[in-house]
Amino acid sequence: MITQQVTVLGSTGSIGVSTLDVLARHPQRWRVFALTADTNDSAMVQQCRTFNPRIAVMNDPAAARRLEQALRGERVRTEVLAGKEGLREVAAHPEVDTVMAAIVGAAGLEPSLAAAQHGKKILLANKESLVMSGRLFMQACNRSGASLLPIDSEHNAIFQCMPSGYASGAMAAGVDKILLTASGGPFREWSIDAMREVTPEQACAHPNWSMGRKISVDSASMMNKGLELIEAVWLFNTSVDNVEIVIHPQSVIHSLVQYNDGSVLAQLGNPDMRTPIAHGLAWPDRIDSGVEPLDLALIAQLSFEKPDFGRFPCLQLAADAASAGGSFSCVLNAANEVAVSAFLDNKLPFTAIPKLIESTLHLGGSTELNSIEEVKALDFEARQVAAQYLQNKAHSP
Ligand code: NAD
Ligand code: MG
Repeated sequence: MITQQVTVLGSTGSIGVSTLDVLARHPQRWRVFALTADTNDSAMVQQCRTFNPRIAVMNDPAAARRLEQALRGERVRTEVLAGKEGLREVAAHPEVDTVMAAIVGAAGLEPSLAAAQHGKKILLANKESLVMSGRLFMQACNRSGASLLPIDSEHNAIFQCMPSGYASGAMAAGVDKILLTASGGPFREWSIDAMREVTPEQACAHPNWSMGRKISVDSASMMNKGLELIEAVWLFNTSVDNVEIVIHPQSVIHSLVQYNDGSVLAQLGNPDMRTPIAHGLAWPDRIDSGVEPLDLALIAQLSFEKPDFGRFPCLQLAADAASAGGSFSCVLNAANEVAVSAFLDNKLPFTAIPKLIESTLHLGGSTELNSIEEVKALDFEARQVAAQYLQNKAHSP
């Protein structure tokens, strides 16, 4: 077996750590070529000791210097790079076969896109790349011959339920509908009034999944499902009308595909991201991921409900942006990132997240974004308008 070289973008995060856990179980099959992180050099030192990558990138130059110093005198021979250029370099490096794209938010776009442009096998956790620039991203994969494996658990489940030989971005014959499941998050049963007072800690305490803080807040507001709706439209070359969101509080069924003969195929498993990660890494093979097998008798019941677009306005905003197409979802993503970060800093009430997003959406238009420069410019503009909204709110009585 030829050992494949892997770059893990965002290796210190929740998905990054789970990816390294799976890779460590199969040292014959994969070698860690590069690891990357934003500022957390102490976590990176530990990962370098364990995996001895050829290159480690810290987005923050000061953290890169600290890492370099810490690794001096150690047995590892890791070269340390810094900044966005370093991130792009390890995503596009000619010796790399597979790139795990697990940076959170818009910061993940350029390195993920670099992997797409250079024909890598991309394991896509960074859904924001597709939300911001789905058309450009899918085009880049098509042109370079990159293969795109969805890691988001729902999209990975859908991919697994597609007809055999299915490749991301293709139209799937015989598929009538995609059923995208959602746990409903920690506030599934809460009234809007009760949600006004929620704290970042409450929002980050997801009932089924342990995740980074940004995606945890997105799950609580249900913007995560909105972003996933847009992600599904691009990955599976379908329209918003063909994707139905179903609330399934147990998070055992990770999504389903409905065929025109009446069959509905589902993928089930314990809520542990190592399953989709192992699937993406080994595809089309299967490998051990370390995840416990499902005990159906213990779970006993699976239940389903319709989503409540009224109590979760973020879901409606994302569905509208997805239907409108063009550049709306890029604006939606930028405004959401500003809103989530303000909420986590206790500068914006939870229920004001959709209000802030709505106040920026006039920046979107029906014309598609045709270059990464256009995407970055609109992302920047939307963040400025969102920041202005925050400032006005701070100064209003
Ligand atoms: P996280 O916050 O735990 O980790 C984020 C990683 O990105 C860290 O390694 C961090 O150092 C790095 N990073 C942050 N900002 C950066 C920047 N400006 N430049 C370079 N690196 C930066 O996030 P996570 O929960 O692992 O999520 C990562 C991505 O995967 C997100 O797009 C999320 O939506 C998606 N995802 C996560 C889960 C999950 O279970 N955690 C599930 C599905 C999809
Ligand atoms: Mg998901």
